[in-house]
Amino acid sequence: MNQESLAREQIVAVGESLYNRGLSPGSSGNISIRLSDGWLMTPTNTALGQLDSAGLSRLDSEGRLVDGDPPTKEALLHLMFYRHRRQAQAIVHLHATHAAAVSCLAGLDVEDCLPPLTAYHVLKVGRLPLIPYHPPGDESLAAAIGAHAETAHALLLANHGPLVCGPSLDAAVATIEELEETAKLYLLLRGSSPSPLSPPEVDRLLGSSRERKSVV
Ligand code: ZN
Repeated sequence: MNQESLAREQIVAVGESLYNRGLSPGSSGNISIRLSDGWLMTPTNTALGQLDSAGLSRLDSEGRLVDGDPPTKEALLHLMFYRHRRQAQAIVHLHATHAAAVSCLAGLDVEDCLPPLTAYHVLKVGRLPLIPYHPPGDESLAAAIGAHAETAHALLLANHGPLVCGPSLDAAVATIEELEETAKLYLLLRGSSPSPLSPPEVDRLLGSSRERKSVV
Protein backbone atom coordinates (compact mmCIF):
# COMPACT_ATOMS: atom_id res chain seq x y z
CA MET A 1 0.00 0.00 0.00
CA ASN A 2 1.39 3.42 -0.90
CA GLN A 3 1.82 6.32 1.53
CA GLU A 4 -1.40 8.08 0.55
CA SER A 5 -3.60 4.97 0.69
CA LEU A 6 -2.21 4.10 4.10
CA ALA A 7 -2.80 7.67 5.33
CA ARG A 8 -6.40 7.54 4.09
CA GLU A 9 -7.07 4.33 6.03
CA GLN A 10 -5.40 5.71 9.15
CA ILE A 11 -7.49 8.90 9.13
CA VAL A 12 -10.76 6.96 8.73
CA ALA A 13 -9.85 4.49 11.52
CA VAL A 14 -8.70 7.21 13.94
CA GLY A 15 -11.74 9.38 13.16
CA GLU A 16 -14.09 6.51 13.94
CA SER A 17 -12.25 5.70 17.17
CA LEU A 18 -12.32 9.33 18.39
CA TYR A 19 -15.99 9.71 17.44
CA ASN A 20 -17.08 6.44 19.05
CA ARG A 21 -15.42 7.44 22.32
CA GLY A 22 -17.20 10.79 22.42
CA LEU A 23 -14.07 12.85 21.79
CA SER A 24 -15.43 14.59 18.66
CA PRO A 25 -19.08 15.50 19.21
CA GLY A 26 -21.29 16.21 16.18
CA SER A 27 -19.26 17.18 13.13
CA SER A 28 -16.53 18.82 15.24
CA GLY A 29 -12.87 17.91 15.10
CA ASN A 30 -10.51 17.45 12.18
CA ILE A 31 -7.48 15.37 11.25
CA SER A 32 -4.69 15.81 8.70
CA ILE A 33 -1.58 13.96 7.55
CA ARG A 34 1.38 15.41 5.66
CA LEU A 35 2.19 13.67 2.36
CA SER A 36 5.35 14.03 0.29
CA ASP A 37 3.58 16.57 -1.96
CA GLY A 38 0.76 18.01 0.13
CA TRP A 39 -1.77 16.96 2.74
CA LEU A 40 -4.76 14.75 3.37
CA MET A 41 -7.43 16.39 5.51
CA THR A 42 -10.90 15.60 6.81
CA PRO A 43 -13.70 17.36 4.88
CA THR A 44 -15.97 20.10 6.19
CA ASN A 45 -19.34 19.23 7.78
CA THR A 46 -18.50 15.54 8.17
CA ALA A 47 -18.58 13.65 11.48
CA LEU A 48 -15.27 11.94 12.20
CA GLY A 49 -17.22 8.70 12.68
CA GLN A 50 -18.55 8.80 9.12
CA LEU A 51 -15.48 9.50 7.00
CA ASP A 52 -15.15 8.05 3.52
CA SER A 53 -11.52 7.40 2.59
CA ALA A 54 -12.18 8.40 -1.05
CA GLY A 55 -13.85 11.67 -0.02
CA LEU A 56 -10.98 12.98 2.14
CA SER A 57 -9.67 16.36 1.01
CA ARG A 58 -6.40 16.11 -0.93
CA LEU A 59 -4.45 19.36 -0.86
CA ASP A 60 -1.33 20.16 -2.88
CA SER A 61 1.84 21.63 -1.41
CA GLU A 62 0.31 25.13 -1.70
CA GLY A 63 -2.75 24.06 0.29
CA ARG A 64 -5.08 24.03 -2.74
CA LEU A 65 -7.77 21.35 -3.02
CA VAL A 66 -6.89 18.91 -5.81
CA ASP A 67 -9.22 15.98 -5.02
CA GLY A 68 -12.06 14.98 -2.72
CA ASP A 69 -14.55 17.10 -0.77
CA PRO A 70 -13.78 20.66 0.42
CA PRO A 71 -11.55 20.54 3.54
CA THR A 72 -12.50 21.49 7.06
CA LYS A 73 -13.07 25.21 7.59
CA GLU A 74 -10.17 24.96 10.06
CA ALA A 75 -7.73 23.87 7.34
CA LEU A 76 -5.81 27.12 7.72
CA LEU A 77 -4.97 26.22 11.35
CA HIS A 78 -3.46 22.92 10.23
CA LEU A 79 -1.49 24.50 7.38
CA MET A 80 -0.09 27.21 9.64
CA PHE A 81 0.96 24.65 12.26
CA TYR A 82 2.74 22.55 9.58
CA ARG A 83 4.38 25.63 8.08
CA HIS A 84 5.97 26.56 11.39
CA ARG A 85 6.71 23.02 12.58
CA ARG A 86 8.46 21.23 9.76
CA GLN A 87 8.87 17.97 11.67
CA ALA A 88 5.11 17.56 12.20
CA GLN A 89 3.62 14.71 10.15
CA ALA A 90 0.05 14.71 11.47
CA ILE A 91 -2.37 17.04 13.28
CA VAL A 92 -5.50 16.37 15.32
CA HIS A 93 -7.91 19.07 16.49
CA LEU A 94 -10.87 18.29 18.76
CA HIS A 95 -13.62 20.05 20.67
CA ALA A 96 -13.27 17.36 23.37
CA THR A 97 -15.47 18.27 26.34
CA HIS A 98 -12.97 18.59 29.20
CA ALA A 99 -10.24 20.36 27.23
CA ALA A 100 -12.86 22.68 25.73
CA ALA A 101 -14.20 23.37 29.24
CA VAL A 102 -10.73 24.28 30.52
CA SER A 103 -10.25 26.54 27.48
CA CYS A 104 -13.25 28.60 28.70
CA LEU A 105 -11.82 29.27 32.19
CA ALA A 106 -10.57 32.71 33.18
CA GLY A 107 -7.18 33.18 34.82
CA LEU A 108 -5.28 30.37 33.08
CA ASP A 109 -1.49 30.61 32.70
CA VAL A 110 -1.24 31.52 29.00
CA GLU A 111 2.29 30.09 28.79
CA ASP A 112 1.30 26.65 30.13
CA CYS A 113 -2.39 26.34 30.90
CA LEU A 114 -2.54 22.86 32.50
CA PRO A 115 -0.43 21.94 35.56
CA PRO A 116 1.95 18.92 35.44
CA LEU A 117 -0.40 16.64 37.38
CA THR A 118 1.04 13.39 36.00
CA ALA A 119 4.26 12.21 34.38
CA TYR A 120 2.33 11.15 31.28
CA HIS A 121 1.06 14.67 30.74
CA VAL A 122 4.61 16.04 30.99
CA LEU A 123 5.99 13.40 28.61
CA LYS A 124 3.27 13.51 25.97
CA VAL A 125 1.88 17.05 26.12
CA GLY A 126 4.66 19.10 27.69
CA ARG A 127 4.13 22.86 27.75
CA LEU A 128 0.61 23.85 26.64
CA PRO A 129 0.29 27.50 25.56
CA LEU A 130 -3.19 29.06 25.54
CA ILE A 131 -4.00 30.78 22.24
CA PRO A 132 -6.28 33.80 22.80
CA TYR A 133 -9.78 33.58 21.37
CA HIS A 134 -10.25 34.32 17.67
CA PRO A 135 -13.21 33.27 15.50
CA PRO A 136 -12.82 29.67 14.17
CA GLY A 137 -10.94 29.53 10.88
CA ASP A 138 -10.08 33.24 11.07
CA GLU A 139 -6.69 34.28 9.71
CA SER A 140 -5.91 35.99 13.02
CA LEU A 141 -6.25 32.61 14.76
CA ALA A 142 -3.91 30.99 12.24
CA ALA A 143 -1.37 33.77 12.84
CA ALA A 144 -1.56 33.24 16.61
CA ILE A 145 -0.95 29.52 16.10
CA GLY A 146 2.04 30.25 13.88
CA ALA A 147 3.53 32.41 16.63
CA HIS A 148 3.54 29.48 19.08
CA ALA A 149 4.09 26.51 16.76
CA GLU A 150 7.87 26.51 16.91
CA THR A 151 7.99 26.10 20.69
CA ALA A 152 5.07 23.74 21.41
CA HIS A 153 3.52 20.71 19.73
CA ALA A 154 0.26 21.04 21.69
CA LEU A 155 -1.85 24.20 21.88
CA LEU A 156 -5.15 25.00 23.61
CA LEU A 157 -7.33 27.45 21.70
CA ALA A 158 -9.32 29.62 24.13
CA ASN A 159 -13.10 28.99 24.18
CA HIS A 160 -12.55 26.30 21.57
CA GLY A 161 -10.34 23.21 22.08
CA PRO A 162 -6.92 21.55 21.63
CA LEU A 163 -4.75 21.41 18.49
CA VAL A 164 -1.90 18.88 18.52
CA CYS A 165 0.75 17.76 16.04
CA GLY A 166 3.01 14.70 16.12
CA PRO A 167 5.62 12.69 14.22
CA SER A 168 2.77 10.30 13.27
CA LEU A 169 -1.00 10.27 13.50
CA ASP A 170 -0.84 7.73 16.34
CA ALA A 171 1.50 10.02 18.30
CA ALA A 172 -0.74 13.07 17.78
CA VAL A 173 -3.78 11.07 18.94
CA ALA A 174 -1.94 9.79 22.02
CA THR A 175 -1.00 13.37 22.91
CA ILE A 176 -4.48 14.82 22.48
CA GLU A 177 -5.99 11.96 24.50
CA GLU A 178 -3.51 12.60 27.32
CA LEU A 179 -4.34 16.31 27.16
CA GLU A 180 -8.06 15.54 27.46
CA GLU A 181 -7.40 13.25 30.46
CA THR A 182 -5.34 15.91 32.22
CA ALA A 183 -8.08 18.48 31.54
CA LYS A 184 -10.55 16.06 33.15
CA LEU A 185 -8.30 15.63 36.20
CA TYR A 186 -7.80 19.39 36.45
CA LEU A 187 -11.57 19.97 36.49
CA LEU A 188 -12.13 17.14 39.00
CA LEU A 189 -9.52 18.68 41.30
CA ARG A 190 -10.82 22.25 41.18
CA GLY A 191 -11.68 23.41 44.68
CA SER A 192 -9.27 20.92 46.26
CA SER A 193 -5.52 21.27 46.78
CA PRO A 194 -3.75 19.18 44.15
CA SER A 195 -0.03 18.55 44.39
CA PRO A 196 1.42 18.81 40.87
CA LEU A 197 4.88 17.53 40.03
CA SER A 198 7.64 19.86 41.20
CA PRO A 199 9.81 21.78 38.69
CA PRO A 200 12.81 19.42 39.32
CA GLU A 201 10.56 16.40 38.72
CA VAL A 202 9.30 17.94 35.48
CA ASP A 203 12.86 18.75 34.36
CA ARG A 204 13.93 15.18 35.05
CA LEU A 205 11.06 13.81 32.95
CA LEU A 206 11.73 16.22 30.09
CA GLY A 207 15.41 15.32 30.16
CA SER A 208 14.64 11.62 29.77
CA SER A 209 12.04 12.27 27.07
CA ARG A 210 14.49 14.39 25.09
CA GLU A 211 16.95 11.51 25.22
CA ARG A 212 14.30 9.20 23.82
CA LYS A 213 13.20 11.89 21.33
CA SER A 214 9.59 11.21 22.26
CA VAL A 215 8.63 14.89 22.30
CA VAL A 216 8.03 16.47 18.91
ZN1 ZN B 1 -12.40 23.75 16.12
